[in-house]
Amino acid sequence: MLKVEEKLFQDRYRVDSERPHVRIKDAELCAHRCGSQQCTVCCPAGCYTTEGNGKVVLIADGCLECGTCRIVCDEHRNIDWDWPRGGFGILFKFG
Ligand code: SF4
Repeated sequence: MLKVEEKLFQDRYRVDSERPHVRIKDAELCAHRCGSQQCTVCCPAGCYTTEGNGKVVLIADGCLECGTCRIVCDEHRNIDWDWPRGGFGILFKFG
């Protein structure tokens, strides 16, 4: 049986560098006013990480478009999320 990481490796992405479909609205809010930073533990693709200074970094290139981050960020609603433009985003491989 494949591990989750091995399955994720089979997916392909077409990154929209001009218009990221997910972004943090206010980075200062994450760093100084969000105690839980749930996105850093809930994102199944590990797109969010916390730096030593408390700043949250989002690298959305491997985003699975699951929508978890916009739901768990319920205290401050600091995630700006939309579907990728046509032709961009993840390509899931089945089988
Ligand atoms: Fe991570 Fe899902 Fe949010 Fe993409 S939509 S950044 S995979 S939690």
